[in-house]
Amino acid sequence: RFEGVTMAPPDPILGVSEAFRADTNDLKLNLGVGAYRTEELQPYVLNVVKKAEKLMLERGENKEYLPIEGLAAFNKVTAELLFGADNSVIQEGRVATIQGLSGTGSLRLAAAFIHRYFPDAKALISSPTWGNHKNIFNDARVPWSEYRYYDPRTVGLDFDGMVADIKAAPDGSFVLLHGCAHNPTGIDPTPEQWEKIADVIQEKNHIPFFDVAYQGFASGSLDADAYSVRLFVRRGFELLVAQSYSKNLGLYAERIGAINVVCSSSDAGTRVKSQLKRLARPMYSNPPVHGARIVANVVGDPNLFNEWKQEMELMAGRIKNVRQRLYENLSEKDKSGKDWSFVLKQIGMFSYTGLHKAQSDHMTDKWHIYMTKDGRISLAGLSLSKCEYLADAIIDSFHN
Ligand code: PMP
Repeated sequence: RFEGVTMAPPDPILGVSEAFRADTNDLKLNLGVGAYRTEELQPYVLNVVKKAEKLMLERGENKEYLPIEGLAAFNKVTAELLFGADNSVIQEGRVATIQGLSGTGSLRLAAAFIHRYFPDAKALISSPTWGNHKNIFNDARVPWSEYRYYDPRTVGLDFDGMVADIKAAPDGSFVLLHGCAHNPTGIDPTPEQWEKIADVIQEKNHIPFFDVAYQGFASGSLDADAYSVRLFVRRGFELLVAQSYSKNLGLYAERIGAINVVCSSSDAGTRVKSQLKRLARPMYSNPPVHGARIVANVVGDPNLFNEWKQEMELMAGRIKNVRQRLYENLSEKDKSGKDWSFVLKQIGMFSYTGLHKAQSDHMTDKWHIYMTKDGRISLAGLSLSKCEYLADAIIDSFHN
């Protein structure tokens, strides 16, 4: 029966960590998965998370099931954090928010919703994008195609290509947009470009579908990183937003996030929410409570909230520092005259180096630097003291 089952290929991102663990060389560096490390390259549990957990333990909270839609206190604060508590969509009760299994589970639930209610609609995703987007839409049976995003000539945004492809898609498509810190490129549209993207999406009756995995983690400011989503809300769109607390609160393994659907009336919001619950029930019944309580405690308490913002600035700041150092090392050491300024222009935890697959393989085979094969490196896994080694490796691999 099971003899006919074939071997699945390793995951292009998580498979990198497996290969890293198997390497015994002391110089090895894991720049594959996007997980924050300290300057000593150790995993980091935020102090506010420890404090919230201590509070939770002292209160002796129970482990009863949550409702299908998750923890009410979490759903309230997560929508407020995203849209701003005074936003009219919150005031008017027009957002259907349900707790999801982190960003991935929330995207997956939204994809199931699209499949059920918009069976003829197509999703549009950026080229390139986070690899799991394709898997998610494939498994949810939502057809997708790509819009141009990255321009290898400028190592920047192919804005005209992006707009043209969004325009060419069938009316009423779901356009997946990275709210901030585009993964894998680290290249975001400017505020003016976001306006123009909103224009085309409006013109074509498309539905914006935001993936927000880095709020506060990209720039260090929660509000600045919610700029794109709030702009679209201000312009009156109905839209979807998947949220994740993996990076900004370092809650990777807690699987805590949410899916928010902004509707044009509170009635529609109530109906949409009922349907999201109906989809969630046979998939996983109800979500886990621990991470939801942590978020509710941190975001809902003014002191912990302020402390969180400081810790986030610290994390974002450390990444900016290694970005700067890496750029300097590359510019100083590379004698070919190549312009490395794109490293500084990118934001968030990644840098898209422009190294192609064979060069990325060379980085691993010769230098023991583990990264995804699309040339993406996670700066969150890099320390100041390793920048020089990495710069040597990148220059060698580019000219290899
Ligand atoms: N979307 C994007 C663009 C991401 O980079 C990530 C994390 N790598 C996610 C969603 C979801 O991650 P998680 O499921 O851990 O929240």
